[in-house]
Amino acid sequence: MQSRVYLLRVTDWKDVEAVARRTALFLREIDLFAGVGSGLLAGVKLTFGEEGNTGYPPPPLVREIVSALRERGARPFLTETNTLYSGRRKNSVDHLELAREHGFGAEQIGAPILLGDGLLGREEWSAPVSTGSRKRARLSPVVRDMDYLVGLGHVTGHLLTGFGGAIKNISMGLASRSGKLEMHSSVSPVVRGERCTLCGRCVAACAASAITLGPQSALIDTRLCTGCAECLAVCPDGAVGIDWNSGSERVQERMAEYAAAIVAALSGRAVFVNLLHQVTKHCDCLGAAPEVIAPEVGIAASSDPVALDQASIDLLRASAGGDPFRTAWPEVDPEVQLRHAEGLGLGVRAYRLRESA
Ligand code: SF4
Ligand code: SF4
Repeated sequence: MQSRVYLLRVTDWKDVEAVARRTALFLREIDLFAGVGSGLLAGVKLTFGEEGNTGYPPPPLVREIVSALRERGARPFLTETNTLYSGRRKNSVDHLELAREHGFGAEQIGAPILLGDGLLGREEWSAPVSTGSRKRARLSPVVRDMDYLVGLGHVTGHLLTGFGGAIKNISMGLASRSGKLEMHSSVSPVVRGERCTLCGRCVAACAASAITLGPQSALIDTRLCTGCAECLAVCPDGAVGIDWNSGSERVQERMAEYAAAIVAALSGRAVFVNLLHQVTKHCDCLGAAPEVIAPEVGIAASSDPVALDQASIDLLRASAGGDPFRTAWPEVDPEVQLRHAEGLGLGVRAYRLRESA
C-alpha cells in the first residue's frame, strides 16, 4: 500500500507573497481540505517561532491555508502549546505577544490563535494511544474538542530526533507540558545547580513533595517525581530543565505514539503540510539565527503524516546530494519515529509522489 504525497517545488522564497499565491493554487489543485465540512472547527497547528529565530511558517502562507479552509465553510483557528523551557513561549501571554510580533495577528491571518494548554501549560487531556491501548498521551484539550486538524510543520533537524516534520510538529506541539516532558526524558526533570538561586518556588509548587533545597541547589527525588513539569513552569531562572541525554529512540517512539493518539482522537480527520524551506540543523525553538543544512525544496502535503515525513526526508536527501540530517546529527537515526509510527498504524512509509507544475 502506498500513500499519496503532493509536492509544490519552490526554490525561491524571496517573494513570500508570490509563494503564498502559488500555495493557494496548489491547495485547491490537490483539494487537500476536501474532508473538512461546513461549520467544523479546524485547528491549524504550527509554531510561531522563538524570539530571534525566523524558521517559522511565513504568515502569508498561513493566511492562504486559513482562507482555503474558510472557502470550505470551516471555522479555522491557529493552535499551539507553550514550551517546556524558558523563553517567550513559556506562558500564553508572552507567547501570544510574540506570535503577534511575528505577523500572526488575527487581522493579518484571518483567524484567532488558541493556545491549547492554558496560561502556564497546565491544562491537559489524557487520551489513549490507540483503541484498547493502555498507553496514554497527555495532550492539549483542544485535541479533544476540535473537529479537524491541519498539521503545518516546518521541517528541521533536531539534536534528539535527527529530523522533525509532521510527526514531531503535532506530537510535541499538541502535548501538554507534562506530555512534552514525558516524551523528552525519563519523566523527571533535572536541576542545573549553577542557575539555581534557592528561591524555593519549585518546592512549593511540587504536589509530589519531590523537591528539597540542598546546600547548593534544589534537589529532585526521582522516586517521588510524577513528571507533572510544574517545577519547569514556575522556576524564574530556567534552572529546571530536561534530561537531554535520554535515548533518541525512546523520544522518537513516544513522539510517534503521541501523534497516533492525536490522529485517533480526531478519527483520522487530519491533513499535513510540511515546509521544506530553510531546513535548519536545530528546531525552531532555538532563539538564534538558524544554520541551514539543505537546499530549498518546497511544500509537501498528504493525509498520511508518515508518508509525508518519509517523502520529506527523501526529497531533502536528493536535493542535498547526501543526508543532511545524518550529517548534522551522525549518531541519530531519524527514521526510528517513522518505523514506529508505521507499526502503530499511523500511516505507511511507502508513497507515490505527485509534483505540481
Ligand atoms: S516534575 Fe512535578 S513532581 Fe516532578 S519534581 Fe517537578 S513539580 Fe515535582
Ligand atoms: S524554582 Fe528554580 S531557582 Fe528556585 S529553587 Fe527551584 S530550581 Fe532553584
